[in-house]
Formats: sequence, structure tokens, C-alpha cells
Amino acid sequence: MMYRTNPKVYLVSRPQVDWEQIAAFLADEGLPEMPDSIRAGTDDANAIIEVSARLCYMSFGRGRRDIAAFIHNLLNSKDGSVFEHVNYGFVFTGVSRSLTHELVRHRAGFAYSQRSQRYVDETEGAFVLPPALVMEDPKRDGARAILEDALESAANSYARLVAELEAEIPRDGFDHATDRRKAIRQTARAVLPNATETKIFVTGNVRAWRHFIEMRAAPFADWEIRALAIEALALLRREAPLMFGDFEVSELADGTKVASPKYSKA
Ligand SMILES: Cc1cc2nc3c(=O)[nH]c(=O)nc-3n(C[C@H](O)[C@H](O)[C@H](O)COP(=O)(O)OP(=O)(O)OC[C@H]3O[C@@H](n4cnc5c(N)ncnc54)[C@H](O)[C@@H]3O)c2cc1C
Repeated sequence: MMYRTNPKVYLVSRPQVDWEQIAAFLADEGLPEMPDSIRAGTDDANAIIEVSARLCYMSFGRGRRDIAAFIHNLLNSKDGSVFEHVNYGFVFTGVSRSLTHELVRHRAGFAYSQRSQRYVDETEGAFVLPPALVMEDPKRDGARAILEDALESAANSYARLVAELEAEIPRDGFDHATDRRKAIRQTARAVLPNATETKIFVTGNVRAWRHFIEMRAAPFADWEIRALAIEALALLRREAPLMFGDFEVSELADGTKVASPKYSKA
């Protein structure tokens, strides 16, 4: 039996500016050249926010000169729509189906691609142990044993169901072997628990990620998704400190982490 205890978080895509096209736009509009027009310098993420915001008022070369003050003012005044132009993509693995069920409830500004339980056989799949059962202090060996017992039983039932359906479902009636395999797996997955490990590719814009982190890194969120939100925040903060630097991370008495933003729901 394979158990996962920590999510793996890969930041796999980030925004990129075509600076030649920005220069062409400025020249065509008779606006000041860079760097006078754009205070973000060559930071792509900041520049996308600045260009989209300045375009609204055609304020290139005017107004706030400091990019940090510029972006914080947008967050503070809840001009959140410009943050939708900047997207970051993550691959999350080692997360449970219960986590991804909560994750995909976040609709606005997110795109998802998740490992299919119809196409992919789960016989060799792994399970994610809930954080409360892997904490050293307090030890919860009794509860963990009950869970592992249930997971083993579910894995066993899944394998037996696949084998039984393989024998019972006739090959004719399916144009493609893949369709038959899907019919078997979509039935057998009925016994897979919430703890089943899954992998998901999630792309979201900055406005959406900020809202996700605010909701899911909060003390009242489930511990597993909370830990994931904290990890995603750490990577996003490194990528775009001006857009995520206002989140404050702190530790609760139980040793788990939470985060809350200075600028709520932009
Ligand atoms: C601790 C916790 C417990 C939860 N418990 C439950 C539960 O028991 N049962 C349950 O069903 N869900 C539960 N949820 C999920 C929650 O209700 C939301 O579905 C989820 O957090 C996504 O939030 P959202 O809709 O704000 O996000 P998104 O879907 O990302 O939307 C972002 C924002 O866009 C706007 N928006 C998006 N779609 C629309 C729309 N169609 N119309 C108008 N405005 C829109 C809203 O302002 C919204 O806040 C829980 C969430 C948390 C954090």
C-alpha cells in the first residue's frame, strides 16, 4: 500500500511579456518610451498589471512612480480585474480526491485538468493520509490503524471488482477496447475513498489565486488543502512578491500554518 503524506507542488507556468510589442504599442500611441512609461522595469508579472491598469486611463509615464505603491493601491482599492491578466499554472500531486473536490469548487479564473479515474487504472494507486493522522504530537496510532485498514480493504475491493468486471463484461458491444476499460474502471471506482491520491494541473489568475489562498489558508479550512494553499503561496510570493507579499503566515497552537491577506478579496 502506498501512502502519501505531503503534497508536491510544482509551479509549471508563469506570465511572459512580449516587450517588442509593448514598445511598438507605446510608439504607435506616441507615449513615452520604456522605462519612463513603465515603472515595473522588466518584471513581466508586474508589467502586465501596470500596462493593463495604465491603459484604462492612458497614464503611461504619469502618476505613481513606485511600482510597489502602484500595485498595492490597486489591491487596496479593489481594482481586482487587472490581476486577471496574470496567470500561474501548478501541478499538484500527492493530494487526495477530497482536496481536489474542494479545489474545483473555485470556479472564477481557474482551469483544471485532473487525472481520470475512468482512463487510469487505480489498482496501483496511492492514498493520502489526512494531516491529523501523520502529526507526531499527539500520536494517533489507533486512528491511523483504523484508516489504513479501511484503505487496504477499499484497494482490495477495487482490484477484485476490476477482475470480476473484466470477466463479466463482454467484449462485443464496445467499438474500442478503451471504452470497455473505461466501463470497468468507472464502475470499480465506486469503492475508492476520498483519500485516493490524484494529480491535477491548475492554472489560475492572480485574482483567483489570492481568493483561493484567502479562503483555504484560513484557520477554518481543511488541514490538507490549507497546507497546499500555504505551499502555493510560498511559491507565488517568490514569483510575484508585490501581488502576494501582503499575506501574513502564522502558526496555530497545533503547529499548522495559516495565512491571511492585508488586502481582502480584491
Ligand atoms: C471552510 C470552508 C467550508 C466549506 N464548506 C462547504 C460546504 O459544506 N458545502 C459546500 O457546498 N461548499 C462548501 N465550501 C465551498 C464554498 O461554499 C465555495 O464553493 C468555495 O469556497 C469557492 O468559493 P467561491 O465561490 O467564493 O470561489 P470562486 O468560485 O472561485 O468564485 C470567486 C468569486 O467570484 C464570484 N462568483 C463566482 N461565481 C459566481 C456566480 N456564479 N455568481 C456570482 N458571483 C460569482 C464570487 O464573488 C466568488 O466569491 C466551503 C468552503 C470553505 C473555505
